[in-house]
Amino acid sequence: MLKIGVLLGDDIGLEVVPEAVKVMKASAAKTGLAIEWSEHAIGRSGHELHGHTMPEVTVKALEKIDGWVCGPIGHGAYPRNDPTWIMPPLRKRFDLFASIKPVKSYPNIESVHKDVDIVFLREVTEGMQSSDTVLAGSGEFRPNDSISIGTRVVTRVGANRVAREAFEIARTRSRKTVTSVHKEPVYRLVCGMFAEECRKVAKEYPDCKLQEVLVDGFAMKLVMKPQQYDVVVTTNQFGDILTDEGAGVVGGLGLAPGLCVGERQAMGQATHGSAPDIAGRNIANPYALIMSGQMLLEWLGRKRGEPKAVEAARLIEQAVDKVIAEAKHLTGDLGGKAGTTQMGDAIAAAI
Ligand code: NAD
Repeated sequence: MLKIGVLLGDDIGLEVVPEAVKVMKASAAKTGLAIEWSEHAIGRSGHELHGHTMPEVTVKALEKIDGWVCGPIGHGAYPRNDPTWIMPPLRKRFDLFASIKPVKSYPNIESVHKDVDIVFLREVTEGMQSSDTVLAGSGEFRPNDSISIGTRVVTRVGANRVAREAFEIARTRSRKTVTSVHKEPVYRLVCGMFAEECRKVAKEYPDCKLQEVLVDGFAMKLVMKPQQYDVVVTTNQFGDILTDEGAGVVGGLGLAPGLCVGERQAMGQATHGSAPDIAGRNIANPYALIMSGQMLLEWLGRKRGEPKAVEAARLIEQAVDKVIAEAKHLTGDLGGKAGTTQMGDAIAAAI
């Protein structure tokens, strides 16, 4: 029995998250996977129900479950005295240290490149972003008006665990190759430590290959020949930039799902925001949230030794591939005419 939470988020979250749940339920029914569902308030509903956009009652409830799907948070809609910064505190509270972002092209969806199938892993508790690295104070300071200083954190534990996660994923894929992206020759200590830990972990996975590419060259190669990469692991800020570049290579925001993982819990979450400009019109593309739910099932299945969850995830991926290939039930941004619910229905039916 898996315990999975549902956090709708704001704006189009109210439309795309239910489609993800619908599809996950269809795959669970097909495989006989037992899931205990629970719904929790976050964002505007958190504020309205509990006076806080990230209510303590939600956080406490999340502590007791295996994972959750979370819709985008529409920061624009909040009162000024409520925190608008939800995701970094949520990731920190649950120590969700790796953000996993697949970058996959489809033959009939317009994209810069075809035949791309990469999984990015970005470390998200360290690096240069003070929202991720600092408990009190700030990772940046300005001693006088002419100088600003920013700090960057890399730890052996942090680098090691994201590298390990990358090899665990590589092991499930046919090419079994992890590319570690850094700039060790320049940032000898911080990138050096990251690179060293990747090499150490690689020795424990003799069935997989490790290759190393410097970040600047990688950014170029990703644009020119992305097909050469399988699993890519990198530090926080490099990953922040490269995952967006990766999404751009295969068709943009609508096709960018994600999963933030910790040692025992995970959160499925799309890259896109709450898209207030199209909210409430049943035109938002549910792909990214559906595939984020798919990733959650696959990850939980692997970590908990629950083959039905892995199979449920496989069925969702297969159904999504089918619906995209048939191109009869796609939303406008993917070149179709279907509504959000029609696309979700078609994927659930394909399962
Ligand atoms: P956005 O991603 O919401 O929208 C950018 C553009 O992409 C818009 O034109 C939108 O209509 C379109 N778009 C986004 N998702 C789509 C989908 N599923 N289907 C079809 N079209 C889609 O980015 P934004 O406009 O910069 O931000 C809107 C709000 O979302 C802001 O309040 C921002 O802070 C918030 N945001 C939240 C998250 C998160 O919670 N994870 C991430 C990014 C932005």
